[in-house]
Formats: sequence, C-alpha cells, structure tokens
Amino acid sequence: MKIYKFGGASVKDAERIRHLAEIVAMETGPLIVVVSAMGKTTNQLEEFTRMLYPDAPYEDEEYNRLYDQVVSTGELQSTRIVSAYLNHAGIANHWMDITEVLRTDANYRDANVDIAQSRERLQAYLAAHPARVYVTQGFIAGTDEGLRTTLGREGSDYTAALLAYMLDAESVTLWKDVPGVFSADPRKVRDAVLIEDMSYVQAQQLVEKGAQIVHKKTFAPLYEKQIPLYVKPFLHPEERGTRIHG
Ligand code: ASP
Ligand code: MG
Repeated sequence: MKIYKFGGASVKDAERIRHLAEIVAMETGPLIVVVSAMGKTTNQLEEFTRMLYPDAPYEDEEYNRLYDQVVSTGELQSTRIVSAYLNHAGIANHWMDITEVLRTDANYRDANVDIAQSRERLQAYLAAHPARVYVTQGFIAGTDEGLRTTLGREGSDYTAALLAYMLDAESVTLWKDVPGVFSADPRKVRDAVLIEDMSYVQAQQLVEKGAQIVHKKTFAPLYEKQIPLYVKPFLHPEERGTRIHG
C-alpha cells in the first residue's frame, strides 16, 4: 500500500483535479489518496464559523466543537469531487469517510488520535470495502459520539503519515506546490538548494526552525516504522523531489 496526499492547491480547480488524476493513473498498486479541502476553503469555512459566533472566546469548547463540524465539510466535499472525477476518468476507487475510522478524543481543533482503535477500524473498513484505490480526507476524524474533529490546521500530512503507520505502508508521497524541500526558504535565500535526500531528524529540525513544508507531526510515525516520505512537485511529477528516510 502507498499513500498519496494532495493539498488544497492541488485540488483548487478542475484543471488541477485532472492533473491529479494523471498522477494517480501512473500508480498501479494499492493506493490511498488523502485530499485536503479545495484551495483556501478551510480559511473561508473558518471565517464563516466566526461569523456565526463573533463573540465566542477562542478557547470556548462549544465554539470549537461547532468549528470542527463546519470546517470538516471542506474535505468531505473535495474528496467527493475527486473520487467522482477519478471514477469518471476510469480510475475505479472507493470514497472513504475517514471520520468513521479515525477515532479521536473530543479535543476539538487539535484532537488526539487513538491509534489502536483507529487501526482496528481502518483494517476492518478496508476488508469490508475491497478496492485498489481509496479516496479519503486529510485533517478530519471523529469521536465515539459520532461528532467530527480536526487534527489542527494543515493536518493532512499528518493524516497521511498516520494511515501509513497503521497499515505499514510502503511509502508516503506528499504532492506539493514546490519542487521539494530546500536548505532554506528559496523565496528569501538566493543560494538555497533542493535537498534530494534527508533523514527524518534533519527534516524535523528544519520544521522546528520554522520551515512550513511539512506538518510537524508527520515525521514521528514514519520514523518509528521507517517508512520513506517523498515530497514531490505536483506540477512536475517526473522530478525527483525530496526523499526523507532512515
Ligand atoms: N484543509 C486543512 C487546512 O487548510 C488541512 C490541510 O490542508 O492540511 O488547514
Ligand atoms: Mg490546506
């Protein structure tokens, strides 16, 4: 099993979704496609929630619970579209509602995943719905009570890593809007170079120094299982990108 993750920029319009299908079509083995909300949808849903409760304090639990119910619809919608398009393009796939399998506590907006329970649910789900390709949501999950939760902004990378961890996947590929991981921010540092190979420890250090390339929770589960992580350019899939490993 391989895990591919596509961020909001990779599904922001019809042209990008067609391109996503070309990338997915190149993979012939078992695959889980993890998708974020389209473009800046999450920001818009966040603003919308704020409009409903302009005075709620940021730490308000009721507000955070509502936030997760609203904001999670971005991923539910984008994955419906991607799944339908892939089927239309001849890539048969199963749409999975990840809120049924990824179990968290009720710490809304930064929920903690119950790995043991989620793994059991995920394996049972995949066995009950056999397919070569699954399309599912990043960033969102669910509680025992059936409410939706989120894992923290930009959390889809982390979802991809968790799925890989739970399934002992062969690799995770994050399809990004950049050529790969650079030694420094290429927008600010002129001699920044693309790093073709790096260790999890180096990657974690870069992220802790403020690099926003990969969500910070992504590395630990992959490191533990020694599952390689590829950061690849969405618009140039033939390029190597960056490989993060042992
Ligand atoms: N859509 C969510 C966000 O924008 C999750 C993600 O993109 O990783 O924060
Ligand atoms: Mg995003």
